[in-house]
Amino acid sequence: MHEQIAYAEIDSWREKLEKLALAIWEHPEGPYREEKACEWTAQLLREAGFSVETGVGGIRTAIRASWGKGKPVYGLLGEYDALPGMSQKVCTHKEAVQEGGWGQACGHNLLGVAHVGAAIGLKKALEQSGCEGTVVYFGCPAEEVLTGKAFMARAHVFDGIDFCAAFHPGSMNDVNFGTATGLNSFKLHFKGRTAHAGGDPHNGRSALDAVELTNVGINYLREHVPTTVRMHYVITEGGVAPNIVPDKACAWYFVRALTRELIDEVYARVLDIARGAAQMTGTELEVEFLGGCYPTLNNRVLGEVMYDALCKAPREPWSKEELEFAAQLNGNKDLPEPLHTGVVKFESDTFGSTDVGDVQHIAPGIAFDTACCNMGAPGHHWQITACSGHSLGLKGTIYAAKAMALFGLNVMENPEILEKAKKEFEEKTAGKPYVCPIPAEIPVPNQD
Ligand SMILES: [Zn+2]
Repeated sequence: MHEQIAYAEIDSWREKLEKLALAIWEHPEGPYREEKACEWTAQLLREAGFSVETGVGGIRTAIRASWGKGKPVYGLLGEYDALPGMSQKVCTHKEAVQEGGWGQACGHNLLGVAHVGAAIGLKKALEQSGCEGTVVYFGCPAEEVLTGKAFMARAHVFDGIDFCAAFHPGSMNDVNFGTATGLNSFKLHFKGRTAHAGGDPHNGRSALDAVELTNVGINYLREHVPTTVRMHYVITEGGVAPNIVPDKACAWYFVRALTRELIDEVYARVLDIARGAAQMTGTELEVEFLGGCYPTLNNRVLGEVMYDALCKAPREPWSKEELEFAAQLNGNKDLPEPLHTGVVKFESDTFGSTDVGDVQHIAPGIAFDTACCNMGAPGHHWQITACSGHSLGLKGTIYAAKAMALFGLNVMENPEILEKAKKEFEEKTAGKPYVCPIPAEIPVPNQD
């Protein structure tokens, strides 16, 4: 095993890796607008000797960086996009850098860089061991709108990979054996007719009524779908004044479920309800499909190898200052420790979504987390933005990079692992080949 070479290489690049993570933190960019993150990440990978292509799959901010030769091909799934309204300083009380601005409240500045670190460490270890194989870093945009990887998959960017790893910064060190839901994201636009709401309402056809009746219908539908289905909405347009019958209204929906089949089935029923609402109100319905993603398909064989890697990869202890920072963020929450120190297997299903599922339906893969924020941090929260710009987040990132390098080496140097992982993958996907949930005619957003 050549993991010590990988660890030493990651350590020698550590300053540059941390600088990149902090630069992305300081310049948070939204989905499909990650120009700087993409440029800086590509630059570092070029410097490290990778053959780098940006704009892959017709997506300006997507990267494919590869090194090595032959099989197996190891895919590392990096991300870098930020969240709106999540700007926050590195401190233990809520204070924005820029009020209402973007922020790394999901820690994707750490996420992308950990995969870069793993790729760089692994390259060195493979160079010295002479072991055959190819390491590919994928810079995947727009995870926060859950469509980046599906658009990349539609363009066949992930074709040819044999296995993949997806790290996410979290509040614990854990390997995910459960399933995270997939989803469809879509807008229901209704078009009616304006009229004076008091004077001649009989001449009006209310688009807002159609939105409300759709939502009422879907709220009744909840009783007749499996309890694992999630349907949620916001009304993005609902008229301009109470005395004008609204001629335009819109609701934006997510439908989530643990299988693609169930997503499609419930989606069809939701559209029937919307059509019914249009009929009831004399309005017209236009469905704008924004995208979709697969549920995750974490591979158990690879999960065990990743668990082992997380237990063995070197990890620096938390400093007193880091523990205090985390404890202050946790406040009076009753927690076993301010920052996680163990390694756990996470078996339960989760009801958020990630587009990592799309890639995991193309090749066997595993998702895992390392502790990069306080244990009590809620998801998509200013506390995560704070930790993602702090040394504790960077520590979790370097640990993740080393674990992913060790995991990759284990799989590449022991072909029987991949054989077993592929067998499991084939059994789970038999008769259900990956079909991109985003139809060919839908353009990638923000490419102007
Ligand atoms: Zn995330």
